[in-house]
Amino acid sequence: MNFLEERIKKDGKVLSEHVLKVDSFLNHQIDPNLMLEIGKEFAARFANEGITKIVTIESSGIAPAVMTGLILKVPVVFARKRKSLTLNGDLLTASVHSFTKNETNEISISKKYVNKEDRVLIIDDFLANGQAALGLVEIVQQSGAEVSGIGIVIEKSFQQGAQIVTKQGHRVESIARIASLKNGEVTFINEKVEELV
Ligand code: 5GP
Repeated sequence: MNFLEERIKKDGKVLSEHVLKVDSFLNHQIDPNLMLEIGKEFAARFANEGITKIVTIESSGIAPAVMTGLILKVPVVFARKRKSLTLNGDLLTASVHSFTKNETNEISISKKYVNKEDRVLIIDDFLANGQAALGLVEIVQQSGAEVSGIGIVIEKSFQQGAQIVTKQGHRVESIARIASLKNGEVTFINEKVEELV
């Protein structure tokens, strides 16, 4: 198990066979040291991609994205889920259905901050059915920029997202990969492999 998987085992709460709660370090209270480690990990994995910008989605993607931007020394843009008064002018938008909230949001970023010269690393907290990641890919592609990869903090590998996004030709790097949340327990992909060795 890596540092994040150990933390999930210690502090994550399994709410159902499909939902993991990580409010104590990622989704509500944030552990800055852990976020820095996550940032270093993404920065190392995408070091050779010539990344010029990071794009994430509010709110839980912001902390890991900022730490990655800090290490890679590139700006971070977060897509908004609601139109704000100050976010006007030329917007790039996509529709995203939220798995946990069961609602559809129009996500948007300003054209000003992502353009065709950019090589973009997309970062998000969870990958479940892939809707958020696909929405982010869509707005980055609308800008003419290239999607150089997708960094996910926690991938629920038993759901469709990773497969869908990978099939579209994108490189997905997930720090923790969950094989199952059955019986109130978190089992990681690596753990299953380790058991077989
Ligand atoms: P997707 O669009 O891939 O279905 O879901 C991604 C989004 O849903 C993430 O940005 C995250 O906010 C939320 N999400 C999906 N599954 C979980 C989960 O098990 N726990 C938490 N806390 N959020 C989740």
